[in-house]
Amino acid sequence: MKISEQIVLKNFQIESLISNNNYASAADYFFNSQINSWEFLKKNYEALRNVQTKSFWFNGFKLKIQFNPGRIKSTSAEVDENSVKNRECFLCIKNLPEEQKGIKIRDDFILLCNPYPIFPQHFTISSFNHNPQSIIESFGELLELAKLLSPRYTLAYNGPACGASAPDHLHFQAGTKNFMPIEDDIHQLKNDFGKVVQQDEFITTIFIDDELRKLIFIESTEQKELEKSFRTIYTTYKKILEEVVEPMMNIICSYNNDFGWSVIIFLRSKHRPECFYKTDLDRILISPAAIDLGGVVVTPREEDFIRTDKDLLLKIFCEVSVIKKTFSLLAEKVKTELR
Ligand SMILES: [Zn+2]
Repeated sequence: MKISEQIVLKNFQIESLISNNNYASAADYFFNSQINSWEFLKKNYEALRNVQTKSFWFNGFKLKIQFNPGRIKSTSAEVDENSVKNRECFLCIKNLPEEQKGIKIRDDFILLCNPYPIFPQHFTISSFNHNPQSIIESFGELLELAKLLSPRYTLAYNGPACGASAPDHLHFQAGTKNFMPIEDDIHQLKNDFGKVVQQDEFITTIFIDDELRKLIFIESTEQKELEKSFRTIYTTYKKILEEVVEPMMNIICSYNNDFGWSVIIFLRSKHRPECFYKTDLDRILISPAAIDLGGVVVTPREEDFIRTDKDLLLKIFCEVSVIKKTFSLLAEKVKTELR
């Protein structure tokens, strides 16, 4: 048996759900099965149930802070080229822990339980192959996976230079639906801060600057239209920044039968805020990625959890988001392109 086949959990219930295309229930069933057979996983999800949180209200939207010591490794992961080259890839199947199993989605992805959770159910969906994280190559797959898992889960993507802890291995995350405040708040954000750049019977694209984050919201029932708009945004943005690599972005994507896909793209200017690199008491370990920008800000250390307040969040989010001028310019150009 090939190593990629050994990882797939053999289970009649899961196989029958998958054969009915019910991946969401299969993932839920699989999650519980892994909890019962993998002690380390069980312990970490039990610990998550008791984590402290606190919330801050901004202008019509909420940010939740989660004190989550289990995330210390991911938050402080070294993701520079050298460090990545010199470690074993933790998403390659041959390097996974013995207890870890997965379920196959489409032919090319494996869904795994994330042993360092933020969501009540938290998965990594990684490619069977060791190919670099790249959204322009995989946006269509993100949409398809979001649809397959839609009744229960929301997907997230982190760019290779702004939050992915394995920038060399293509992967997404999936977590309990509506756990991130932005999934509710987006409608208010749209009304209060939205600038519509594209709207017809198939698709709506809105630029939103809520004074902390700069995000683009796309809603559509048509996959092809969505892919086209995303490609336009991506290439226009890359051109403006004069980037040769992927422009920094984090994405949250969900699907519902009435409205189709909701895609939220956060545009970034840097990976980590200055305070992350300070020493001793000045250091604050917050390393924003899709889930943090979606409103669940993870602090692995208690001292950071305690001192995080509205001002600090405002400062960090503004610092890591693209600047106003670039965001407005992009909105203008994309509006012309998509007309
Ligand atoms: Zn790998």
